Amino acid sequence: MAFEGLSERMQSIMRKLRGKGKVTEADVKEAMREVRLALLEADVNFRVVRDFVNRVKERVVGQEVMRSLTPGQQVIKVVNEELTQLMGGERSKLNQALRSPTVIMMVGLQGTGKTTSSGKLARYFQKQNRRTLLVAGDVYRPAAIRQLEVLGESLDTPVFSLGDQESPVVIARRGVEKAREEGFDYVIIDTAGRLHIDEEMMGELRKIREQVSPDEILLVVDAMTGQDAVNVAESFNQQLGLTGVVLTKLDGDTRGGAALSVKAVTDCPIKFVGTGEKTDALEPFFPDRMASRILGMGDVLTLIEKAQSAVDQEKARDLERKMRTLTFTFDDFLDQLQQVRKMGPLEDMLSMLPDVGQMKGLKNVQVDEKQLVRVEAIIRSMTPQEKSHPEILNASRRKRIARGSGTTVQDVNRLIKQFNDMKKMMKQFTQMAKGKKKKKRGG
Ligand code: GDP
Repeated sequence: MAFEGLSERMQSIMRKLRGKGKVTEADVKEAMREVRLALLEADVNFRVVRDFVNRVKERVVGQEVMRSLTPGQQVIKVVNEELTQLMGGERSKLNQALRSPTVIMMVGLQGTGKTTSSGKLARYFQKQNRRTLLVAGDVYRPAAIRQLEVLGESLDTPVFSLGDQESPVVIARRGVEKAREEGFDYVIIDTAGRLHIDEEMMGELRKIREQVSPDEILLVVDAMTGQDAVNVAESFNQQLGLTGVVLTKLDGDTRGGAALSVKAVTDCPIKFVGTGEKTDALEPFFPDRMASRILGMGDVLTLIEKAQSAVDQEKARDLERKMRTLTFTFDDFLDQLQQVRKMGPLEDMLSMLPDVGQMKGLKNVQVDEKQLVRVEAIIRSMTPQEKSHPEILNASRRKRIARGSGTTVQDVNRLIKQFNDMKKMMKQFTQMAKGKKKKKRGG
């Protein structure tokens, strides 16, 4: 799989951070040093790496992040956001012509997958019930026209060709005319590539561009060529003006450098990625999903954001203090319950965790919302004194609470037992923690 090395290294760096309750500036520096090396080794452009690391550091060090309850998670969140930003932030959709057909010009060096990607795009539109005319404009590479015709046949998509004796500029213009006359939604022009960028090729592409005024000029680059792909993209963009990039062969063992640098270096978004030789192997490019994939995060990001917006940091600190000093009351219990409920159904939250699939037990977790409502009702039926001093809850008080909350005495008993168990557990934790400290001090 692509990015394997990078992904593994990033995940191990992030794992180290995640485990930390407290993150120092030195920790962040060390992590960023490792991130820098991992990116350089993945063949990401060195300037891109430098800027990336600086941005992350700037956002993390000396900020709220370090003071938050989960600094490790916060650093990961920043890295994820910046990785997404690096690859373009939002997904870049294809431009659409106001009046059909939308004209797409495919450009790129030979062997990068231009012809194949033209066919894949036609297939992609076909699945959306859109009709495409493929135009065979690569008159120099032997067999390119035939290759496109074979592709068209297999996709049941028409191919416009005038053989290899006509000029590509004429072929492109006539192809677009035909698509317009016959009401096609898209016309994709497969142009000629060379082994290297040369003036003649660029001149011809400019002429085609003038003739057909494309809505999209997509550069096809091979992810396996790493920084070369980025350099090629830069010069095509300067000389022709690109609207987007199709990054092919992401199914190979590319280190990822091209995917991570193209946008930052050329300001051209990646719009699609090729993930195989088959015509179905084309995917729209989502920077955020790619970033999460590299960091092995599942959709934890959404989860962190939800927790952040639901959990009042001030209250969380307060709660922590109460647990330590064993002054936790039923009011706090209720507070906790409400904060958790604000995050949404527990089942939904579990499904956002990566690797939950592997924890079989968790799959069957079903949270009884009614049970939560009952707990709330019981606590609300207590007097303030009862809430802070549960030990006074004798039989007659329990009966009154059950009546007041529309529950049974058994329900009330169960909740009080849960509460006491929780307190006992906290006491054990606190004693364990104290013991540890003593040991440390002792030697
Ligand atoms: P062109 O010269 O740019 O038109 O390149 P082609 O479309 O002929 O593709 C060159 C080779 O790359 C062919 O063998 C394709 O099957 C292969 N290819 C294209 N895209 C992909 C891809 O996303 N993944 C893989 N594994 N191979 C691809």
